[in-house]
Amino acid sequence: MLAATTSTHCPYCALQCGMNLRPTEDGGVDVVERTDFPVNRGALCGKGRTAPAVLSSRVRLTGPLIRRHATGGLEPATWEEALRAVADGLRRTRASHGPDGVGVFGGGGLTNEKAYTLGKFARLVLGTSQIDYNGRFCMSSAAAAHTKAFGVDRGLPFPLEDVPRTGCVILVGSNLAETMPPALRYLTELRENGGKLVVVDPRRTRTAEQADLHIAPRPGTDLALALGLLHLVVSEGRVDEGFVASRTTGWADARAAAMSHWPALVERITGVPVPQLREAVAMFCDAESGMVLTARGPEQQSKGTDTVGAWINLCLATGRAGRPLSGYGCLTGQGNGQGGREHGQKADQLPGYRKLDDPEARAHVAGVWGVDPDTLPGPGRSAYELLDALGRDVRALLLMGSNPVVSAPRAAHVEERLKSLDFLAVADVVLSETAALADVVLPVTQWAEETGTTTNLEGRVLLRRRAITPPEGVRSDLEVLHGLAGLLGWEKGFPTDPEEVFDELRRASAGGAADYAGISYRRIVEEDGVFWPCPDPGHPGTPRLFLDRFATPDGRARFVPVTHRASAEETDEEYPVVLTTGRVVSQYQSGAQTRRVAELNAAAPGPFVELHPRLAERVGVAEGDPVAVVSRRGRAVAPARITTAIRPDTVFMPFHWPGEGRANTLTNPALDPTSKMPEFKVCAVRLEPAGG
Ligand code: SF4
Repeated sequence: MLAATTSTHCPYCALQCGMNLRPTEDGGVDVVERTDFPVNRGALCGKGRTAPAVLSSRVRLTGPLIRRHATGGLEPATWEEALRAVADGLRRTRASHGPDGVGVFGGGGLTNEKAYTLGKFARLVLGTSQIDYNGRFCMSSAAAAHTKAFGVDRGLPFPLEDVPRTGCVILVGSNLAETMPPALRYLTELRENGGKLVVVDPRRTRTAEQADLHIAPRPGTDLALALGLLHLVVSEGRVDEGFVASRTTGWADARAAAMSHWPALVERITGVPVPQLREAVAMFCDAESGMVLTARGPEQQSKGTDTVGAWINLCLATGRAGRPLSGYGCLTGQGNGQGGREHGQKADQLPGYRKLDDPEARAHVAGVWGVDPDTLPGPGRSAYELLDALGRDVRALLLMGSNPVVSAPRAAHVEERLKSLDFLAVADVVLSETAALADVVLPVTQWAEETGTTTNLEGRVLLRRRAITPPEGVRSDLEVLHGLAGLLGWEKGFPTDPEEVFDELRRASAGGAADYAGISYRRIVEEDGVFWPCPDPGHPGTPRLFLDRFATPDGRARFVPVTHRASAEETDEEYPVVLTTGRVVSQYQSGAQTRRVAELNAAAPGPFVELHPRLAERVGVAEGDPVAVVSRRGRAVAPARITTAIRPDTVFMPFHWPGEGRANTLTNPALDPTSKMPEFKVCAVRLEPAGG
C-alpha cells in the first residue's frame, strides 16, 4: 500500500513554497497543490511542479565515482573506497600544506542541518579557516547593509502577507515574475488594494510591466538613484523628523551625503529623468506606509553594501522602518539563502550569526562542540577569494551543493583554478559541470528523500520531510560528513539524524542574533513554520522585527552615509556596452537540476543575448543570429533576442548554462569591500556578429 501524502517544501528558491507529495505506483512522487500554506497558497511555478523529475535515477548519480588515474575518466567505486579516497586526499593535503591548504565550499541550498554540520566539520575535523559558500554571491551585500543599519540581518523583517497591505512598494532589481512567480500575487494584491508599485530595473521585465511607475536606470547606478530620491525627500520637506529623532542615529552625515546628489546630477548618472524621480518620491511619501524591497540588481555590485544602505537610508528618513506595514527587505534567492547564512558555513561566522572573531561567540560555540575555543580557526577567505586561491594556497577542496563552474564570476578562470587542485571532492545529486572535474564524486540524497529544515526569505523556519526512499547507492550529506569525520578521527560529534543535528544547532544558536533555541521539529509542523528569533519553547516566534526597537545596542537604527561611485568597470571605446545578467523562469541558478527536466528545458533550452533594436542594428545582427559578447575576461556566444524592453546601452544574458553561452565567462569578480560580493550585474562588453 502506498504511504500517505507528505507535506513539504519546494527544493528550489527562497519562497520555499509548500506542496504535498503523493507517492506513485512506480516508487516516485507526484506534486499535489497545498493550499493551506500561507506563503504560496497552493501556487507553484513550473520548477516546483516538475521538481520530482530530478529524483529519477535516469538523470542523477546513483553511485560514487573515482578518477583513479590523473588523466583518466571517472569510474564507479564503492562508498568505502570513495570515502577513504576523500579522507586520504584531505589528510594528505593537510599534512603537506597545513590545515588552510584544505578548503570547503558550501551552498545556499543546503538545509540548516547540513550548513551547520559542514561549518563544524571544516573547523573541527579539518581545522581550516578556508570555508565559504555560494550564498556570498547571492545577497551578502544586503546582509551586510542590514546588519549595519538594523543590528541584525533577516531578509524580510516582516511576513510577505504584509506586502499587499502597505501603501507603496519600491522594488529594486527584482524580477519576481520570473524568479519566484507565486510571489507576484502579493504585488497584484497591493495594487488591487490601492497601493502603488514602483519597479526599478534596466529592463522592462514582466514584473516591471505590473508597475505604476517603471524606472530604468543604467546598470550600476542604483546607489545614485536612491541618493537622488533622498535628496528630493529632504528638499521637498518629506523627512519624518519625529521618527528620525526618536528611532535613528547618524542622520546629519547621511543627509549631507545625499544633499550632494542633486537631481540633475542623478539624472546624468542614472539616465532617469528628474520628473520620474519626483513621481517616485510622491508615490512613496504620499502613502501612509511603504516598503523598499531589493534583490540581486542593486546587491550584486562592487558597491552593493553601500547601494543597499542608500535604499535603507531612504526608508529611515521617511519613517518607513520599524513600523507596521513598513520597512526595508531583501528578497533572498536560494532555497535556504536565509538559513544558509546563519549557521556557520560563511568564512567569518559561527552558528547563530555569531562572529568568528568575537571571543565570547567562540567560547559559546566551542562549549557546545566540547572543544577549546583556542583550537577554532579564525575567519577565512570569501567565496571568490577562496576559488581564486585554489591550486595555489588552497590545494584540496571539498564542495557540497554548488556548481561554481557555471555560477561563479570569471568562470573560465575559476574552472582553471578547480582543475589545478591537487584534490577535489564534490557531493552532488547530478554530475554537474564542477562534479565532472572532481577526483571523487559522492552522490547524495535530495529534498524529497531526506528530512531537514530551511529558513525562507521571511525568516520562517520550515521542515522539508522525507517522502520517498532514496535510490540504493546514495547517502545523505550528513552521512557523508559523518563517514569522513570518522575516517579522520572524529568518531563522535557528527550525527546522521537531522533532528539530532537541529537540536545541537538550537543550542549553538541560543543567545545569538538568529536564535533558534525555542524552535523544534514538532513546533514547525504544528505551527507551519516558526519565525526566528525564538529564544525559548514558550516564545511565539517573531514574524515582525524592530517594531519596538532595532537590534542595535541603543535600539536605534543607524543611518550610514554613502556616496555614489562608479562601477569597477566602466564602458569605453573598446567595450562600449554594459552587460547585466539574471535568471529566467524555467531555469534555476546554475541549471544543474533544471537543465535535466525535459519540460523546463523545452521552455528555456539555452542562453540568449537580449538587446535593443538600435544596438542590434549597430552590431549588425537580426533576431536569432548568433552574437558574440566579449569582455576583458572572455567571450560568450548566444542567439540575439531583440526587444525594446531593454535600454539601448545594455545587454542581458541569463547565467544558467555552461559552454559557449556561459554568461559568467564574462562577469567581473571585482568585490564589494564590505561583503565581498562580486560585481555580477555590471561589466563592460562589446558585441560582434558570430555567424559563419
Ligand atoms: Fe519552488 Fe520558488 Fe517556484 Fe515556489 S517559486 S515553486 S519555491 S521555485
